[in-house]
Parts: sequence; C-alpha cells; structure tokens
Amino acid sequence: MSDCLFCKIVAGEIPSAKVFEDEELLAFEDISPAAPVHVLIIPKIHLDSIHEAGEEHKELIGRIHLAAGRIAAERGLAEGGYRIVNNCGADGGQTVPHLHFHLLGGRAMTWPPG
Ligand code: 5GP
Ligand code: ZN
Repeated sequence: MSDCLFCKIVAGEIPSAKVFEDEELLAFEDISPAAPVHVLIIPKIHLDSIHEAGEEHKELIGRIHLAAGRIAAERGLAEGGYRIVNNCGADGGQTVPHLHFHLLGGRAMTWPPG
C-alpha cells in the first residue's frame, strides 16, 4: 500500500518515534497524544482494519496485545492500569486505514471515550 501513511512509517519514508520493533510489529508514539502515554502498535503488513483480519492473523493480533502489555509495564502502567483500543471503520472512529492498536495510559480513562 504505497499510499498508506503507516506503511510509509514502516518503510521509514515518514519518521516516527519508535518504541518497539521486531520482524512483524512496530510500535511508535502517537503524533497527537490523547494521554500521557499514547503508543500505536501496528503490524508491518498492511491490513485496512481488524475487520480484514482472519484466522491466519490470530497470532499476530495476539502478539500486538502482548507487546502493548510489555510497553505498558515499561512505562510504569502495570499498577495503575491502561487501555488498549482498536478503532474500526468510520463509526469506530478509525482515521488511518492501516490496522493499529492504541495503548493509552497515565490518566484515568472515561467510558465510553467519546
Ligand atoms: P485512529 O483514529 O485511526 O484510531 O488513530 C489514528 C492515530 O494516528 C491518531 O491517534 C493520530 O494522532 C495518529 N497519527 C496520524 N498521523 C500520524 C503520523 O503521521 N504519525 C504518528 N506517529 N501518528 C499519527
Ligand atoms: Zn498500510
């Protein structure tokens, strides 16, 4: 997806503040943080949204959540708690059509987030 913002971040064509990277995943700071900790965790492969994910992606989706938990612990959020958010599609509030999960923490969350 040459016109995808997050694919360009994966490719290094657009800079990001990297938090974690391995063969399958990239985590980086959200450019417009909604909480003291706001990290985006994405698969390096392009999927438009969680709605595009299938059985073949279940380990990838699981690993994203485990990575979020590790990053949360690194940021000191294990005790106070945190939120992992996936926005899917227009009504879900998704603005970047490359699957991503938000790790939010460092303040008390409201529900629903609005
Ligand atoms: P969504 O609204 O799709 O769930 O989340 C997209 C997120 O990507 C937003 O929180 C937004 O601030 C973030 N974002 C948009 N463009 C960029 C960018 O160029 N770099 C980074 N690091 N984050 C971005
Ligand atoms: Zn993409």
